[in-house]
Amino acid sequence: MIDTHRHRGLRQQLVNELKSKGIKNELILSAFMDIPRHYFLEKTFADWAYKDVAFPIDADQTISQPYTVAMQTTLLDIKKGDKVLEIGTGSGFQACVLSHMGAKVYTIERQKKLFDKTEKFLHDIGFGNIRTLYGDGYEGAPRFAPFDKILITAGASEIPVKLIEQLKPGGIMVIPLGQGDLQKMLKITKNEDGSLKKENFGNYRFVPFLKGVN
Ligand code: SAH
Repeated sequence: MIDTHRHRGLRQQLVNELKSKGIKNELILSAFMDIPRHYFLEKTFADWAYKDVAFPIDADQTISQPYTVAMQTTLLDIKKGDKVLEIGTGSGFQACVLSHMGAKVYTIERQKKLFDKTEKFLHDIGFGNIRTLYGDGYEGAPRFAPFDKILITAGASEIPVKLIEQLKPGGIMVIPLGQGDLQKMLKITKNEDGSLKKENFGNYRFVPFLKGVN
């Protein structure tokens, strides 16, 4: 894995593009500036890493579009030291963005092959402090709960009850919710009395949030 001056230039262009699309949070922009996103794609496709598009990775999964990562991260309102649970490790890129911003990250993947590959990869690129878990995200990570923030990076057809339980009062969950092809991006805030405030941030397209492991 080599990170060159040219890659850095491409990252700067991507950061400019994200800014022009409304991403303002400096912590997010500097994560995109610093993390070599081309490491997360197969070598032959390295040049796709800095275009604002989703891209296929192993096991029929995708690395989310940069704008989608930036948008979900914006909605989470990450503070340094936040304990964050991510569902859907995939390539590990989103987890690295959260970790770079100073969050303590736990991430769950249900596909064993992808889990093994990404776990090793995260160590290799210096993000070994991200806690990777193999399992069904619908169950969450009760051993490490409660969390300040929970991020779901696959399209869910329902709000997972166990994940709401594992959210701290005052905590935020970001979840793409919907049946079928399109999901609406919901920001769910758990009020101190346990009730939920839901806000809709528009339509997105994700791979499905599936039950069980593989
Ligand atoms: N956050 C990822 C995007 C991955 S795409 C990235 O930055 O690259 C969504 C991922 O969610 C896929 O890897 C898929 O296997 C995983 N997934 C789907 N259902 C899941 C479940 N129930 N538990 C854990 N992971 C799940």
